[in-house]
Amino acid sequence: MIGNIERGPATDPTIYGGNMVGEIEVVTLGSFGLGVGNIGVDKRTDIDAELFDVMTQKASKGEYNIIVIGNIPYLCVDGRLQIIGSQNQEMGPSSAGATIGLAYAVDLGGSGLLADRSEKELITTITQRIKDGGGVVGVHDDEHGLSGCGAVAHAFEIYTHIYDNSKNILETANTLGARITREDMQIITRRAKKRSEQEGFFLKNRAEVPQLAESVGANKVTLAGPHQETMVIWNKKESTTINRTQLPYPAFIVDEWSFKKASEMINITGDSEQADLIRKALVVFNIATASVLGDKSLRIVVAENNP
Ligand SMILES: [Zn+2]
Repeated sequence: MIGNIERGPATDPTIYGGNMVGEIEVVTLGSFGLGVGNIGVDKRTDIDAELFDVMTQKASKGEYNIIVIGNIPYLCVDGRLQIIGSQNQEMGPSSAGATIGLAYAVDLGGSGLLADRSEKELITTITQRIKDGGGVVGVHDDEHGLSGCGAVAHAFEIYTHIYDNSKNILETANTLGARITREDMQIITRRAKKRSEQEGFFLKNRAEVPQLAESVGANKVTLAGPHQETMVIWNKKESTTINRTQLPYPAFIVDEWSFKKASEMINITGDSEQADLIRKALVVFNIATASVLGDKSLRIVVAENNP
């Protein structure tokens, strides 16, 4: 226990089947009882185990980190590099669902001032707010149509996953150093439950969601190719992201260091505790997204501020 923060046996990776890779304790979504999706390494035959371990060690030491401009996430965690009409995905702060994920974090951890709004109004309001504050706004789809963004396409499942797995998600979050209390998690969980029971909150046609953000000024890119992410790199090194082009295998990139500044910008009340709850909701939303998209074998590797 650190203060009143819940930490249980999952912090000992050996209990949940974690492994040592060199000096790094490696955990996976499965270490925390998470991972109901199908992106992972267990079913892959093209992964060189040694190279994968080298990648894990390098990622944890921050060797793939590069400096980025800006501190509000406007790219998704999506590990795909190929962009229709362009060479490579640009480098910028990344979080699940990009700008749309920030709107969900306000929904889950905000003041409740937007509680009577629809998903559409919520996304429009938050996108506009970030733009007005001088932040970059961004969303993506992919060449397969639908919404093309896992965090957006599966937003309803992610919300239900949050309250169905709140204990495991809380455990994961605090192992990653997010400092979320049980009371914080109860608020986030209640909000998620209420929304998923609210008739008509989520837009039925998920393809409309990125278009909606685009219509209020978000930059939309179209990613291409299959999902081949092998790990989540949980990046704590300030003002950096992971250079996706340098990774031997694709990874989901969560630039967690950027959540604090982002939360302060999207918080409507200006109250610092409220902003911190939005930061916590962003952590929860990112873990839940990884768990809905990834399977038990997806590694979670922390890139530390001071490796
Ligand atoms: Zn996405």
